Amino acid sequence: MARIIDGAAISRAIRAEVAADVARMAERGLVPGLAVVLVGNDPASAVYVRSKARACERVGIRSRQIDLPSSVTQRELFAIIDELNADPTVHGILVQLPLPAHVDSKAVLERVDPAKDVDGFHPLNAGLAFIGDPRALVPATTAGILELLRREGVPTHGRHVVVVGRSLIVSKPLVSLLVAPGSNATVTMCHRHTPDIAPHTRMADILVVAVGKPGLVTADMVKPGAVVVDVGISRVPDPDAPRGHRIVGDVDFDAVSEVAGAITPVPGGVGPMTIAMLLVNTVKAALAAEAGAD
Ligand code: NAP
Repeated sequence: MARIIDGAAISRAIRAEVAADVARMAERGLVPGLAVVLVGNDPASAVYVRSKARACERVGIRSRQIDLPSSVTQRELFAIIDELNADPTVHGILVQLPLPAHVDSKAVLERVDPAKDVDGFHPLNAGLAFIGDPRALVPATTAGILELLRREGVPTHGRHVVVVGRSLIVSKPLVSLLVAPGSNATVTMCHRHTPDIAPHTRMADILVVAVGKPGLVTADMVKPGAVVVDVGISRVPDPDAPRGHRIVGDVDFDAVSEVAGAITPVPGGVGPMTIAMLLVNTVKAALAAEAGAD
């Protein structure tokens, strides 16, 4: 049976380290600040934003939430981002997605000062990640996957990593960082237009799946002993569950656990790492701002 990679425990350890860093920063008068912009009243977004605020509070990061109606114009949103960009107490800015259809999300994300872009979605940060520059603010889920592997003692050097999915917020920066010096992996990337992903996934020493399709990866698609990282999060109906649904990943967990060497569960794998790495990014941005101000 595969070893279960406990993302919840690893994220707790990271959050404790962040709290210690923040306490040391507070001694010299530096309090990292995160501003979260929430547009509209999508209940899922509200839950995510609340959990980010709570996580900040627990480690001593000052968080601030800016609630805007879904009728907000792009110009108004730009003005708010400009204000946050100029505010020296705000080190990280996060615009919760999705934004209403009348707003150009890409333009909004590009308006955020790259030095405060703790989501790592700005093209400058994507470019820094691509060239392996340590100044990059890396998207939190991507950073979380790499940190899980590092803390679990899973080397990437010389190993074949297969990434299924090619999104900008998870998979593309992951591929950039996996091939960078230091990681030195050989990487294959699959997506919707890959005619058959199985021959690729079967070659993976480390298989990362970030698609959003429950059951996409079955046991016959995994090499015995491989490390499997399941990023997917989907809700499936389950009449026996208290809320009538449960959360699952992209990997058939029970069957793949019998083949893989190690596997991340869903929930409790990559998910908890995302918020932990957002906190890490906020501290990184605050330290960079402090160093820049010297
Ligand atoms: P996304 O932007 O929708 O990207 C999904 C990717 O999967 C696309 O690149 C798509 O290919 C590819 N794909 C779709 N069907 C496929 C198939 N049958 N075979 C191979 N590739 C296929 O999603 P995302 O934002 O990366 O998120 C992926 C999943 O991770 C979702 O379930 C999301 O909820 C979850 N997620 C979890 C966390 C976390 O904290 N754990 C964070 C972010 C996302 P094309 O590009 O060709 O369409």
